[in-house]
Amino acid sequence: MKTRVLVLGAGFGGLELTTRLSEALGDEAGVTLIDQEEGFIFGFSKLDVMFGHQKPEAVRHLYRDIVKPGVTFKQETITAIDPTARRVTTDKDVYETELLVVALGADYAPEATPGLLEGGNEFYSVAGAERVSQVLEGFDSGVALIAVLGPFFKCPPAPYEAAMLLHDYLQAKGAAGNVTIRVITPMPAPVPISEDISQGIVAGLKERGIEYWPSTKVTSLDAERRVALLEDEREIPYDLFLGIPVHVAPPVVEESGLTEEGWIPVSTDNFSTRFEGVYAIGDVTSAPVPRAGVFAEGEAAVLAEHLLAKLRGGDEPDGYNGAAVCYVEFGSGQVGKANVNFLGGPKPVGRFSPPSEETTEEKAEFGAARRRRWFGHQV
Ligand SMILES: Cc1cc2nc3c(=O)[nH]c(=O)nc-3n(C[C@H](O)[C@H](O)[C@H](O)COP(=O)(O)OP(=O)(O)OC[C@H]3O[C@@H](n4cnc5c(N)ncnc54)[C@H](O)[C@@H]3O)c2cc1C
Repeated sequence: MKTRVLVLGAGFGGLELTTRLSEALGDEAGVTLIDQEEGFIFGFSKLDVMFGHQKPEAVRHLYRDIVKPGVTFKQETITAIDPTARRVTTDKDVYETELLVVALGADYAPEATPGLLEGGNEFYSVAGAERVSQVLEGFDSGVALIAVLGPFFKCPPAPYEAAMLLHDYLQAKGAAGNVTIRVITPMPAPVPISEDISQGIVAGLKERGIEYWPSTKVTSLDAERRVALLEDEREIPYDLFLGIPVHVAPPVVEESGLTEEGWIPVSTDNFSTRFEGVYAIGDVTSAPVPRAGVFAEGEAAVLAEHLLAKLRGGDEPDGYNGAAVCYVEFGSGQVGKANVNFLGGPKPVGRFSPPSEETTEEKAEFGAARRRRWFGHQV
Protein backbone atom coordinates (compact mmCIF):
# COMPACT_ATOMS: atom_id res chain seq x y z
CA MET A 1 0.00 0.00 0.00
CA LYS A 2 1.32 3.47 -0.87
CA THR A 3 0.88 6.38 1.53
CA ARG A 4 2.39 9.86 1.81
CA VAL A 5 3.15 9.94 5.52
CA LEU A 6 3.34 6.71 7.53
CA VAL A 7 3.32 7.17 11.30
CA LEU A 8 4.32 4.14 13.38
CA GLY A 9 2.88 4.25 16.90
CA ALA A 10 -0.24 6.04 18.13
CA GLY A 11 1.04 7.25 21.49
CA PHE A 12 1.59 10.82 22.65
CA GLY A 13 3.92 11.56 19.71
CA GLY A 14 2.02 9.79 16.91
CA LEU A 15 -1.38 11.13 17.97
CA GLU A 16 -0.19 14.73 18.21
CA LEU A 17 1.64 14.55 14.88
CA THR A 18 -1.28 13.08 12.93
CA THR A 19 -3.67 15.60 14.52
CA ARG A 20 -1.48 18.49 13.40
CA LEU A 21 -1.05 17.15 9.86
CA SER A 22 -4.80 16.58 9.55
CA GLU A 23 -5.58 20.08 10.87
CA ALA A 24 -3.23 21.65 8.34
CA LEU A 25 -3.85 19.49 5.26
CA GLY A 26 -7.35 18.05 5.74
CA ASP A 27 -8.31 15.36 3.24
CA GLU A 28 -5.02 15.88 1.42
CA ALA A 29 -2.94 14.79 4.43
CA GLY A 30 -2.51 11.20 3.20
CA VAL A 31 -1.48 9.92 6.63
CA THR A 32 -1.60 6.29 7.72
CA LEU A 33 -1.24 5.71 11.47
CA ILE A 34 -0.44 2.20 12.73
CA ASP A 35 -0.60 0.80 16.26
CA GLN A 36 -0.90 -2.73 17.59
CA GLU A 37 -3.30 -1.76 20.38
CA GLU A 38 -7.00 -1.00 20.13
CA GLY A 39 -6.63 2.15 22.21
CA PHE A 40 -4.38 4.66 23.98
CA ILE A 41 -3.88 4.85 27.74
CA PHE A 42 -2.21 7.89 29.34
CA GLY A 43 0.89 6.93 31.37
CA PHE A 44 -0.59 8.56 34.46
CA SER A 45 -3.72 6.41 34.18
CA LYS A 46 -1.54 3.39 34.99
CA LEU A 47 -1.25 4.77 38.53
CA ASP A 48 -5.06 4.81 38.75
CA VAL A 49 -5.13 1.18 37.59
CA MET A 50 -2.35 0.24 40.03
CA PHE A 51 -4.26 1.55 43.05
CA GLY A 52 -7.55 0.04 41.91
CA HIS A 53 -9.21 3.41 41.18
CA GLN A 54 -9.83 2.52 37.53
CA LYS A 55 -10.07 -0.55 35.32
CA PRO A 56 -8.00 -0.42 32.08
CA GLU A 57 -11.19 -0.46 29.95
CA ALA A 58 -12.34 2.77 31.62
CA VAL A 59 -9.12 4.67 30.81
CA ARG A 60 -8.49 3.24 27.32
CA HIS A 61 -9.31 5.66 24.48
CA LEU A 62 -10.24 3.68 21.41
CA TYR A 63 -8.46 4.41 18.16
CA ARG A 64 -11.60 3.58 16.21
CA ASP A 65 -12.96 6.91 17.55
CA ILE A 66 -10.31 8.85 15.62
CA VAL A 67 -12.16 10.63 12.85
CA LYS A 68 -9.63 12.96 11.25
CA PRO A 69 -9.67 14.12 7.66
CA GLY A 70 -6.80 12.57 5.72
CA VAL A 71 -5.87 10.07 8.48
CA THR A 72 -6.42 6.31 8.27
CA PHE A 73 -5.83 4.25 11.40
CA LYS A 74 -4.74 0.60 11.15
CA GLN A 75 -4.59 -1.74 14.11
CA GLU A 76 -1.67 -3.89 13.05
CA THR A 77 1.59 -5.13 14.56
CA ILE A 78 4.72 -3.84 12.88
CA THR A 79 7.10 -6.72 12.23
CA ALA A 80 9.84 -5.06 10.11
CA ILE A 81 11.03 -1.56 9.20
CA ASP A 82 13.35 -0.96 6.26
CA PRO A 83 14.49 2.66 6.65
CA THR A 84 16.43 2.74 3.38
CA ALA A 85 13.47 1.65 1.23
CA ARG A 86 10.98 3.33 3.65
CA ARG A 87 9.09 0.05 3.66
CA VAL A 88 7.19 -1.24 6.68
CA THR A 89 5.83 -4.75 7.11
CA THR A 90 3.03 -5.56 9.52
CA ASP A 91 1.18 -8.76 10.41
CA LYS A 92 -1.39 -7.79 7.75
CA ASP A 93 0.23 -5.65 5.05
CA VAL A 94 3.30 -4.01 3.53
CA TYR A 95 3.53 -0.20 3.29
CA GLU A 96 5.77 2.02 1.19
CA THR A 97 5.90 5.69 1.98
CA GLU A 98 7.36 9.04 1.03
CA LEU A 99 7.86 10.10 4.67
CA LEU A 100 8.23 7.67 7.56
CA VAL A 101 7.87 8.60 11.24
CA VAL A 102 8.84 6.17 14.00
CA ALA A 103 7.02 6.95 17.26
CA LEU A 104 7.01 3.47 18.80
CA GLY A 105 7.92 4.49 22.36
CA ALA A 106 9.99 2.46 24.81
CA ASP A 107 9.48 -1.18 25.85
CA TYR A 108 10.48 -2.79 29.12
CA ALA A 109 13.05 -5.50 29.82
CA PRO A 110 12.13 -6.83 33.30
CA GLU A 111 14.32 -9.87 32.58
CA ALA A 112 17.37 -7.54 32.59
CA THR A 113 17.09 -7.44 36.41
CA PRO A 114 17.66 -11.00 37.67
CA GLY A 115 14.89 -12.07 40.05
CA LEU A 116 12.44 -9.25 39.17
CA LEU A 117 9.99 -11.49 37.31
CA GLU A 118 10.04 -14.11 40.10
CA GLY A 119 10.25 -11.91 43.16
CA GLY A 120 8.89 -8.48 42.26
CA ASN A 121 6.39 -6.48 40.26
CA GLU A 122 6.46 -3.66 37.76
CA PHE A 123 3.66 -1.11 37.34
CA TYR A 124 4.85 0.59 34.14
CA SER A 125 2.83 -1.64 31.79
CA VAL A 126 -0.97 -1.83 31.95
CA ALA A 127 -0.80 -5.58 32.70
CA GLY A 128 1.80 -4.92 35.43
CA ALA A 129 -0.30 -2.16 37.00
CA GLU A 130 -3.32 -4.49 37.02
CA ARG A 131 -1.30 -7.24 38.72
CA VAL A 132 -0.03 -4.80 41.35
CA SER A 133 -3.61 -3.72 42.13
CA GLN A 134 -4.34 -7.34 43.11
CA VAL A 135 -1.09 -7.74 45.07
CA LEU A 136 -1.85 -4.54 47.01
CA GLU A 137 -5.19 -5.89 48.20
CA GLY A 138 -3.32 -8.41 50.36
CA PHE A 139 -0.51 -6.10 51.49
CA ASP A 140 -0.81 -4.31 54.79
CA SER A 141 2.49 -4.62 56.67
CA GLY A 142 6.25 -4.77 56.15
CA VAL A 143 8.65 -3.01 53.79
CA ALA A 144 7.59 -1.75 50.34
CA LEU A 145 10.56 -1.06 48.07
CA ILE A 146 10.02 1.11 45.02
CA ALA A 147 13.19 0.85 42.95
CA VAL A 148 14.41 2.44 39.73
CA LEU A 149 16.33 -0.31 37.90
CA GLY A 150 17.71 1.42 34.79
CA PRO A 151 19.68 4.57 34.00
CA PHE A 152 16.60 6.41 32.73
CA PHE A 153 12.88 5.76 32.56
CA LYS A 154 9.55 7.26 31.54
CA CYS A 155 8.27 10.20 33.56
CA PRO A 156 11.00 10.97 36.15
CA PRO A 157 8.47 11.91 38.91
CA ALA A 158 6.48 8.62 38.54
CA PRO A 159 8.38 6.54 41.19
CA TYR A 160 7.79 9.31 43.76
CA GLU A 161 4.15 9.69 42.72
CA ALA A 162 3.75 5.92 43.19
CA ALA A 163 5.30 6.16 46.68
CA MET A 164 3.03 9.01 47.79
CA LEU A 165 -0.05 7.35 46.31
CA LEU A 166 0.91 4.09 48.05
CA HIS A 167 1.07 6.00 51.32
CA ASP A 168 -2.43 7.34 50.62
CA TYR A 169 -3.73 3.89 49.75
CA LEU A 170 -2.34 2.34 52.93
CA GLN A 171 -3.67 5.19 55.05
CA ALA A 172 -7.17 4.60 53.67
CA LYS A 173 -6.78 0.92 54.70
CA GLY A 174 -5.55 1.93 58.16
CA ALA A 175 -2.22 0.20 57.41
CA ALA A 176 0.14 3.14 56.84
CA GLY A 177 1.64 2.75 60.34
CA ASN A 178 2.60 -0.89 59.64
CA VAL A 179 4.47 -0.24 56.38
CA THR A 180 7.85 1.33 55.63
CA ILE A 181 7.92 2.77 52.10
CA ARG A 182 11.42 3.18 50.69
CA VAL A 183 12.33 4.64 47.28
CA ILE A 184 15.71 3.51 45.91
CA THR A 185 17.18 5.12 42.79
CA PRO A 186 20.59 5.30 41.12
CA MET A 187 19.91 8.98 40.40
CA PRO A 188 21.38 11.59 42.76
CA ALA A 189 18.09 13.55 42.87
CA PRO A 190 14.51 13.11 41.56
CA VAL A 191 15.06 15.70 38.81
CA PRO A 192 18.84 16.32 38.73
CA ILE A 193 18.60 19.44 36.52
CA SER A 194 16.57 21.31 39.16
CA GLU A 195 17.23 21.55 42.89
CA ASP A 196 13.92 23.37 43.28
CA ILE A 197 11.84 20.53 41.78
CA SER A 198 13.92 17.85 43.52
CA GLN A 199 13.52 19.55 46.91
CA GLY A 200 9.77 19.90 46.36
CA ILE A 201 9.45 16.17 45.70
CA VAL A 202 11.80 15.08 48.51
CA ALA A 203 9.91 17.32 50.97
CA GLY A 204 6.67 15.57 49.91
CA LEU A 205 8.25 12.17 50.65
CA LYS A 206 9.57 13.35 54.02
CA GLU A 207 6.21 14.75 55.12
CA ARG A 208 4.71 11.30 54.56
CA GLY A 209 7.54 9.42 56.31
CA ILE A 210 8.70 7.84 53.02
CA GLU A 211 12.40 6.88 52.99
CA TYR A 212 14.43 8.15 50.05
CA TRP A 213 17.70 6.46 49.08
CA PRO A 214 19.30 8.33 46.12
CA SER A 215 22.50 7.21 44.31
CA THR A 216 21.71 3.59 45.24
CA LYS A 217 21.24 0.83 42.71
CA VAL A 218 19.35 -2.44 43.02
CA THR A 219 21.06 -4.96 40.73
CA SER A 220 19.02 -8.12 41.40
CA LEU A 221 16.44 -9.75 43.66
CA ASP A 222 16.67 -12.98 45.58
CA ALA A 223 13.05 -14.04 45.21
CA GLU A 224 13.27 -16.88 47.75
CA ARG A 225 14.78 -14.82 50.55
CA ARG A 226 12.86 -11.68 49.50
CA VAL A 227 15.90 -9.42 49.51
CA ALA A 228 17.09 -6.86 46.99
CA LEU A 229 20.81 -6.87 46.27
CA LEU A 230 22.49 -3.51 45.86
CA GLU A 231 25.47 -2.61 43.70
CA ASP A 232 27.55 -2.09 46.85
CA GLU A 233 26.64 -5.66 47.90
CA ARG A 234 24.26 -4.70 50.70
CA GLU A 235 21.05 -6.74 51.00
CA ILE A 236 17.73 -5.00 51.63
CA PRO A 237 14.80 -7.14 52.77
CA TYR A 238 11.37 -6.40 51.33
CA ASP A 239 7.80 -7.62 51.55
CA LEU A 240 6.61 -5.84 48.41
CA PHE A 241 8.92 -4.92 45.52
CA LEU A 242 7.76 -2.45 42.88
CA GLY A 243 10.41 -2.00 40.19
CA ILE A 244 10.68 0.54 37.40
CA PRO A 245 12.11 -1.88 34.81
CA VAL A 246 15.03 -1.29 32.47
CA HIS A 247 13.74 0.41 29.29
CA VAL A 248 14.65 -0.69 25.76
CA ALA A 249 13.60 0.27 22.23
CA PRO A 250 10.93 -2.07 20.79
CA PRO A 251 12.69 -5.08 19.14
CA VAL A 252 11.38 -4.16 15.67
CA VAL A 253 13.18 -0.80 15.97
CA GLU A 254 16.37 -2.37 17.28
CA GLU A 255 16.34 -4.83 14.32
CA SER A 256 15.77 -2.05 11.75
CA GLY A 257 19.27 -0.59 11.98
CA LEU A 258 17.85 2.78 13.07
CA THR A 259 19.35 2.66 16.59
CA GLU A 260 22.75 3.51 17.99
CA GLU A 261 23.45 2.42 21.54
CA GLY A 262 19.89 1.23 21.85
CA TRP A 263 17.94 4.32 20.73
CA ILE A 264 17.34 6.31 17.54
CA PRO A 265 19.60 9.35 17.22
CA VAL A 266 17.76 12.41 15.84
CA SER A 267 18.40 16.04 15.02
CA THR A 268 16.45 18.25 17.45
CA ASP A 269 16.08 20.78 14.59
CA ASN A 270 13.50 18.64 12.80
CA PHE A 271 13.69 15.05 14.21
CA SER A 272 15.27 13.61 11.08
CA THR A 273 17.30 10.41 11.42
CA ARG A 274 20.35 9.54 9.36
CA PHE A 275 18.02 7.92 6.77
CA GLU A 276 16.53 10.18 4.08
CA GLY A 277 12.81 10.82 4.67
CA VAL A 278 12.81 8.93 8.00
CA TYR A 279 12.02 10.70 11.29
CA ALA A 280 11.63 9.65 14.92
CA ILE A 281 10.02 11.28 17.95
CA GLY A 282 9.31 10.44 21.58
CA ASP A 283 10.65 7.80 23.93
CA VAL A 284 12.24 5.74 21.14
CA THR A 285 14.84 8.45 20.43
CA SER A 286 17.97 9.52 22.27
CA ALA A 287 16.95 13.22 22.12
CA PRO A 288 18.49 14.92 25.19
CA VAL A 289 15.21 15.31 27.11
CA PRO A 290 13.47 13.00 29.60
CA ARG A 291 11.15 10.24 28.39
CA ALA A 292 7.68 11.69 28.89
CA GLY A 293 4.54 12.27 26.88
CA VAL A 294 4.82 16.04 27.07
CA PHE A 295 8.22 15.90 25.35
CA ALA A 296 6.99 13.45 22.68
CA GLU A 297 4.15 15.89 22.02
CA GLY A 298 6.47 18.93 21.77
CA GLU A 299 8.70 17.02 19.36
CA ALA A 300 5.65 16.11 17.26
CA ALA A 301 4.81 19.82 16.93
CA VAL A 302 8.29 20.62 15.57
CA LEU A 303 8.24 17.64 13.21
CA ALA A 304 4.76 18.59 11.95
CA GLU A 305 6.05 22.04 11.00
CA HIS A 306 9.02 20.50 9.17
CA LEU A 307 6.82 17.99 7.28
CA LEU A 308 4.37 20.74 6.33
CA ALA A 309 7.23 22.87 5.01
CA LYS A 310 8.31 19.88 2.91
CA LEU A 311 4.83 18.96 1.67
CA ARG A 312 3.36 22.37 0.87
CA GLY A 313 6.21 24.87 1.36
CA GLY A 314 6.50 27.37 4.21
CA ASP A 315 8.86 28.09 7.07
CA GLU A 316 11.07 25.48 8.67
CA PRO A 317 10.64 25.15 12.46
CA ASP A 318 13.01 26.93 14.85
CA GLY A 319 14.03 23.63 16.41
CA TYR A 320 12.90 22.01 19.65
CA ASN A 321 13.45 23.88 22.94
CA GLY A 322 12.64 20.96 25.25
CA ALA A 323 10.19 23.02 27.32
CA ALA A 324 7.37 21.22 29.10
CA VAL A 325 5.11 21.17 32.14
CA CYS A 326 4.94 17.93 34.12
CA TYR A 327 2.28 17.35 36.77
CA VAL A 328 3.26 15.53 39.96
CA GLU A 329 0.74 13.60 42.10
CA PHE A 330 1.30 14.07 45.83
CA GLY A 331 -1.65 11.92 46.92
CA SER A 332 -5.03 12.94 48.40
CA GLY A 333 -5.88 14.54 45.06
CA GLN A 334 -3.06 17.08 45.40
CA VAL A 335 -1.07 17.86 42.27
CA GLY A 336 2.13 19.92 41.99
CA LYS A 337 3.87 21.09 38.86
CA ALA A 338 7.37 21.10 37.34
CA ASN A 339 8.11 23.64 34.60
CA VAL A 340 11.23 22.56 32.75
CA ASN A 341 13.24 23.74 29.80
CA PHE A 342 16.01 21.44 28.59
CA LEU A 343 17.27 22.94 25.35
CA GLY A 344 16.18 26.59 25.26
CA GLY A 345 19.14 28.06 27.17
CA PRO A 346 22.77 27.44 28.06
CA LYS A 347 21.73 24.72 30.53
CA PRO A 348 18.53 22.86 31.47
CA VAL A 349 16.42 24.65 34.07
CA GLY A 350 13.32 23.77 36.11
CA ARG A 351 10.92 25.41 38.57
CA PHE A 352 8.61 23.73 41.08
CA SER A 353 5.06 24.82 41.98
CA PRO A 354 3.73 23.16 45.14
CA PRO A 355 0.41 21.30 45.02
CA SER A 356 -2.62 23.54 44.64
CA GLU A 357 -6.26 23.20 43.68
CA GLU A 358 -5.56 25.20 40.55
CA THR A 359 -2.86 22.72 39.41
CA THR A 360 -5.13 19.76 40.16
CA GLU A 361 -7.73 21.29 37.83
CA GLU A 362 -5.03 22.09 35.26
CA LYS A 363 -3.96 18.42 35.15
CA ALA A 364 -7.57 17.28 34.69
CA GLU A 365 -7.90 19.72 31.79
CA PHE A 366 -4.56 18.50 30.34
CA GLY A 367 -6.07 15.01 29.94
CA ALA A 368 -9.48 16.25 28.80
CA ALA A 369 -7.97 18.57 26.16
CA ARG A 370 -6.05 15.69 24.61
CA ARG A 371 -9.07 13.38 24.67
CA ARG A 372 -11.02 16.07 22.79
CA ARG A 373 -8.22 16.91 20.38
CA TRP A 374 -7.07 13.39 19.52
CA PHE A 375 -10.30 11.40 19.85
CA GLY A 376 -13.14 13.91 19.71
CA HIS A 377 -14.26 12.81 23.22
CA GLN A 378 -16.19 15.53 25.02
CA VAL A 379 -15.64 14.18 28.58
C1 LIG B 1 3.39 5.29 35.41
C2 LIG B 1 3.64 6.30 34.33
C3 LIG B 1 3.24 7.63 34.51
C4 LIG B 1 3.47 8.58 33.51
N1 LIG B 1 3.03 9.86 33.70
C5 LIG B 1 3.25 10.78 32.74
C6 LIG B 1 2.79 12.12 32.90
O1 LIG B 1 2.16 12.46 33.91
N2 LIG B 1 3.07 13.00 31.90
C7 LIG B 1 3.74 12.65 30.78
O2 LIG B 1 3.97 13.49 29.92
N3 LIG B 1 4.21 11.40 30.61
C8 LIG B 1 3.96 10.46 31.55
N4 LIG B 1 4.41 9.17 31.36
C9 LIG B 1 5.26 8.85 30.20
C10 LIG B 1 4.50 8.71 28.91
O3 LIG B 1 3.47 7.74 29.03
C11 LIG B 1 5.44 8.30 27.78
O4 LIG B 1 6.66 8.96 27.90
C12 LIG B 1 4.81 8.66 26.43
O5 LIG B 1 3.65 7.86 26.25
C13 LIG B 1 5.77 8.50 25.28
O6 LIG B 1 5.12 8.80 24.07
P1 LIG B 1 5.58 8.09 22.70
O7 LIG B 1 4.68 8.63 21.66
O8 LIG B 1 7.04 8.22 22.53
O9 LIG B 1 5.32 6.55 22.95
P2 LIG B 1 4.04 5.78 23.47
O10 LIG B 1 3.01 6.72 23.98
O11 LIG B 1 4.54 4.71 24.37
O12 LIG B 1 3.44 5.14 22.13
C14 LIG B 1 4.10 4.13 21.43
C15 LIG B 1 3.06 3.32 20.69
O13 LIG B 1 3.72 2.40 19.80
C16 LIG B 1 3.00 1.20 19.78
N5 LIG B 1 3.87 0.10 19.36
C17 LIG B 1 5.06 -0.29 19.90
N6 LIG B 1 5.56 -1.32 19.21
C18 LIG B 1 4.70 -1.61 18.20
C19 LIG B 1 4.67 -2.56 17.13
N7 LIG B 1 5.65 -3.45 16.94
N8 LIG B 1 3.61 -2.53 16.27
C20 LIG B 1 2.60 -1.62 16.42
N9 LIG B 1 2.57 -0.70 17.41
C21 LIG B 1 3.62 -0.70 18.29
C22 LIG B 1 2.50 1.02 21.21
O14 LIG B 1 1.35 0.19 21.25
C23 LIG B 1 2.21 2.48 21.62
O15 LIG B 1 0.83 2.82 21.47
C24 LIG B 1 4.14 8.19 32.34
C25 LIG B 1 4.52 6.86 32.14
C26 LIG B 1 4.27 5.92 33.11
C27 LIG B 1 4.67 4.49 32.86
